[in-house]
Amino acid sequence: MKKLKAALKAQTAQADFLKLLAHPVRIAILQILSEGEACVCHLEAFLGYPQPYLSQQLAVLRSGGIISDRRDGWNVYYTLQQPHVINLLNTLSAFITPSLEDGLLQKVSCSCPKCNPPFPQIAITQNLPLGAEE
Ligand SMILES: [Zn+2]
Repeated sequence: MKKLKAALKAQTAQADFLKLLAHPVRIAILQILSEGEACVCHLEAFLGYPQPYLSQQLAVLRSGGIISDRRDGWNVYYTLQQPHVINLLNTLSAFITPSLEDGLLQKVSCSCPKCNPPFPQIAITQNLPLGAEE
């Protein structure tokens, strides 16, 4: 029995890891973070859940070392620490194929610093009509 328990140690760790992922909102968060770091207001704009709820889910993912956070002024940015997790989620699509519409997260307007950089200088100069600089 002792041997069996020892043998199941790795499997228990794997099952615990899957439990961290086994939540629709956490999967959606990971999909968003697969495109780069994001603050909680960005996740809120995408997913429509209040920030305290998202913070709870983020804490679960962070406790498992799947994501990390860094503070920048007023914002806390979350980053994927284990990019392999996305491979795992993609593999899931082989078993459960969502329709394209259901599988894609809709981009919505977001006022976070990432979506609205504080100094959009390049965009402004590019939009000037020809001859406008004189
Ligand atoms: Zn944003």
